[in-house]
Amino acid sequence: MRIVHTIREVREAVAAARKEGASIGLVPTMGYLHEGHQTLIRAARKQNDFVVVSIFVNPIQFGPKEDLQAYPRDLERDAERAEQAGAQLIFNPAVEEMYPSGYNTYVEVQKITSVLCGATREGHFRGVTTVVAKLFNIVGPDRAYFGCKDYQQLKVVERMVGDLNMPLEIVPVPIVRESDGLAMSSRNTYLSPEERESALVLSKSLRFAQELLDEGITSGSEIVSRTRALIEATPHAQVEYVSLVDTETLEPINEVKNTALLALAVRIGKTRLIDNAIIKRR
Ligand code: AMP
Repeated sequence: MRIVHTIREVREAVAAARKEGASIGLVPTMGYLHEGHQTLIRAARKQNDFVVVSIFVNPIQFGPKEDLQAYPRDLERDAERAEQAGAQLIFNPAVEEMYPSGYNTYVEVQKITSVLCGATREGHFRGVTTVVAKLFNIVGPDRAYFGCKDYQQLKVVERMVGDLNMPLEIVPVPIVRESDGLAMSSRNTYLSPEERESALVLSKSLRFAQELLDEGITSGSEIVSRTRALIEATPHAQVEYVSLVDTETLEPINEVKNTALLALAVRIGKTRLIDNAIIKRR
């Protein structure tokens, strides 16, 4: 497996693979790889001959008060994990390689970016879609892999690809969890042991919402308020949002008919965690 830092090197490596008839898979990440990322890489390897993993902590998707500087980084460890999962190439550009002086172009998906995480993280999804569009243009993959952990991000990227006729397939990958239910995240490393315990309330509350639905409670506002109360009763936990929305439009659901997405953002101490699940009437 090779690690390259420039756009020219990625293009050359991908062109060489294409010349051999290889199909190309891309897994965009911010690094500090864990089993969740490795699951995306393995899925990519199954469906493509040549897998590119990008590792780039994208500054334009972080707000001024967010954790850009503190975000964990360990390229050596990432290289081992990416290779183990079947990647052929890591693309790890410097910020100046992606945004040289004079850079002035942004890609923005409207509407579904204004709810959930978009309501508080201004400019976040514009940063995501811009970097993802650039990565698609740099790598030119047949398929790109995105985790359902960042469900809204997945839907926003799907919208961008559809609206702009980008010639690739977006492949969603289910959430990978620790054995106790905590969704894997590079940010889990910020949690103290006590906070780590409190963080279990996220996955617990998703299961709780499904139980409410199983008991016949279909009112969106009741499911949301009872789920929120469970989280608020947990030490260190502060709710940013608990929302029950349509799985495609991300618009609020008043009454669950078949399925709905329960999406959460919760601060545990200073660490902002997200999780979600599709709940179903059975
Ligand atoms: P990140 O490095 O956090 O930007 O994540 C890179 C990609 O990995 C995104 O598509 C995420 O949705 C995905 N991902 C991160 N954590 C998980 C997880 N626990 N399960 C599934 N996918 C994940």
